[in-house]
Amino acid sequence: MSHPDFTVEGRAIDAAGITEHARIEVTGSRISSVIPLDSETTHASNEASNEASDEVSGQAPSASGSSAMWSASDMPTIIPGFVDLHNHGGDGGAFPTGDEESCRRAAEFHRRHGTTTLLASLVSANEQEIVRQLDILKPLADEGLIAGVHLEGPFVNAHKCGAQNPDRIVPADADMFARAASRHPGLIRQITLAPESPGAEACLDVCAREGIILSLGHTDADYDTTMNFVSKAVDRGIMVTATHLFNAMPPLHHRTPGAAAAMITAAKKFPGRVFVELIADGVHLHNGTVDMVTESLPDSAFFITDAMEAAGKADGSYVLGALAVTVADGVARLTTTDGSVGSIAGGTSTLFDQFVRAVRRGFDPVDAVRFTSATAGRVLGFGRDASGDPGSAVSSSAAGTRAGHLSVGAPADFVVVDPNFELQEVYAAGQALHVREGETGSAR
Ligand SMILES: [Zn+2]
Repeated sequence: MSHPDFTVEGRAIDAAGITEHARIEVTGSRISSVIPLDSETTHASNEASNEASDEVSGQAPSASGSSAMWSASDMPTIIPGFVDLHNHGGDGGAFPTGDEESCRRAAEFHRRHGTTTLLASLVSANEQEIVRQLDILKPLADEGLIAGVHLEGPFVNAHKCGAQNPDRIVPADADMFARAASRHPGLIRQITLAPESPGAEACLDVCAREGIILSLGHTDADYDTTMNFVSKAVDRGIMVTATHLFNAMPPLHHRTPGAAAAMITAAKKFPGRVFVELIADGVHLHNGTVDMVTESLPDSAFFITDAMEAAGKADGSYVLGALAVTVADGVARLTTTDGSVGSIAGGTSTLFDQFVRAVRRGFDPVDAVRFTSATAGRVLGFGRDASGDPGSAVSSSAAGTRAGHLSVGAPADFVVVDPNFELQEVYAAGQALHVREGETGSAR
């Protein structure tokens, strides 16, 4: 039996459950064994805190998790690397407009913060601008820094543009979409479009042929239009998601339920085929809205950041695509000149922030893992070989359906967190990206 390259030890939490004390061995880019060491754990934690464990022992062990449950152990916790399917950048780097160095900075920022699989999201742009960014992002995908590109627009509804530049929004053009998809085959993994955009239906052909995730959003579509469109897409074998559910779509009204209600219903009706994105950062959605959806769709909702270049940076002036954005108190809004409150313009959180936020709010850590890695991994891995394509370099971009699981054969994508929710280490495909000691990048 060959020797592992390295091992990590701690409390392991993945989408399948909690192992109080485990040793994870990594060989090459994959997890080669997971060894439970439970008896040692019990001993250690009893000695460490008699009073605390007396209190805890009165509760049902399977009760819903909480931050108290998180810190019950003084060992580090190992969780799967996060999967972010909607991300425009960070640390001053911007996927929609940046040069290669800028895009690299953005990807590396999120990877250092535990997002070991991410799609680079563009914004509504013309064909020339899209092709320029595809060319820039191709080497990053080849290296496994990103898992592919997400086109957010330009085939969306100008009335629900949010922070999309209305000048760049055009009716759906399947030929243009097909040209973009064939520029670097396999690079575009997802497109956000509005089902009511003229020509949207023809785009289903491109999604079906290229295995591109169809994400419905920036839409004013009513319930029936949305539901019909989703049904057609599912019939064609396409994976469907809602782009940041509730944001940039009409609010849910009891007599005009609209796209939001249709997407929730469709996610229930087509399990494993229709999912919804949530920006669970405490800014884009009320906690109650997040809870309503996660309680209703425990296996079909997942978190995204919609992060823009200000993620990881101080308040100030930034851009999203071609639009000026002001970040105040960590909230990014379109800059206005008339004193009005601008639209929320992308996020400034990381998925690690959202994971910590969820657990502190009382989410079971196992559920928090599902919402920040496992479910998005299922979406990304749909129709693909779970073990990854043996013809390509094994990288975090191949995590796919194995994401969210600390199991033998899964890519060695994981994060080590201390009992105070401090990020200690990040590994992607078995490579250390972040080790707290001597790494100052995370201190910002
Ligand atoms: Zn976005």
